Amino acid sequence: MKTLIVHAHPEPKSLNGALKDLAVSTLRGAGHEVRVSDLYAMKWKAVVDAADYGPHASSPLKVAADSGRAFDAGALTPDVRAEQDKLLWADTIIFQFPLWWYAMPAILKGWVDRVFTYRFAYGVGEHSDTKYGERFGEGTLAGRRALLSVTAGGPRSHYAARGINGPVDDLLFPIQHGILYYPGIEVLPPFVLYGTDRMTAADHPGVAAAWRQRLLTLETTEPIPFRPQNFGDYEIPSLHLKEGLEPAGRTGFGLHVRG
Ligand code: FAD
Repeated sequence: MKTLIVHAHPEPKSLNGALKDLAVSTLRGAGHEVRVSDLYAMKWKAVVDAADYGPHASSPLKVAADSGRAFDAGALTPDVRAEQDKLLWADTIIFQFPLWWYAMPAILKGWVDRVFTYRFAYGVGEHSDTKYGERFGEGTLAGRRALLSVTAGGPRSHYAARGINGPVDDLLFPIQHGILYYPGIEVLPPFVLYGTDRMTAADHPGVAAAWRQRLLTLETTEPIPFRPQNFGDYEIPSLHLKEGLEPAGRTGFGLHVRG
């Protein structure tokens, strides 16, 4: 495997830092190639602005169109181009981050905003009255697999089907489906550690063993069976899921998962 780890935690000695380090050593130890984008260490610029598009920035700024023109011209900033190149190099992408306010840390969202540009991650393929591009199962990053490795302070029960925080699959849906599956990446079931703020040193060996086990079975883990956009599950042009395809009683985000 060629694995890119995108890591978002400000403290190298944190639990997240330890999980990132363990992923690097475990995967390299198993003979895989690993590259790391440690966003805080890189001092990643997390905001989109006109400087991102140089002479391709219009006035007023049109983020989507300008980013697409800069992408087509090979004129995106070197930091963004380097991340796009890493994504194209990788066959596996691991995102390591703590759940902050029910979402990814801002620096990681800013990585997505700047790296997943128009013409690279969206605006790909035919857009017409009958086709809404190549996305959700197709796209520039098709053929790659991603895994979210997330730490949460709250206990597992708060993220269960009836838990007060909402089901973890729902919370992660905008990342797993909206960000990763959109440009074609298959998404493996997430590795989520709960109750992390109450962990003690006694928990460390079990946590490390569980993470190592997930890492060493990445190649044989089945992805979440999200429904591809252009292969018959959706009405054209509304892109509503066709009646009757959902398993009995299935509602909400789960509609977009087969089986
Ligand atoms: P650390 O603080 O570095 O460590 C936590 C514990 O992990 C330590 O006490 C230690 O026992 C253990 N640990 C440390 N190193 C290791 C190691 N090498 N191996 C094994 N264990 C180790 N939580 C939610 O559930 N939902 C939210 O919406 C949410 N929002 C937040 C928003 C903000 C701004 C912040 C700061 C926190 C929020 N939290 C939330 C809590 C947050 O998710 C946790 O604090 C975080 O996941 C813990 O990860 P860490 O790497 O920062 O842990």
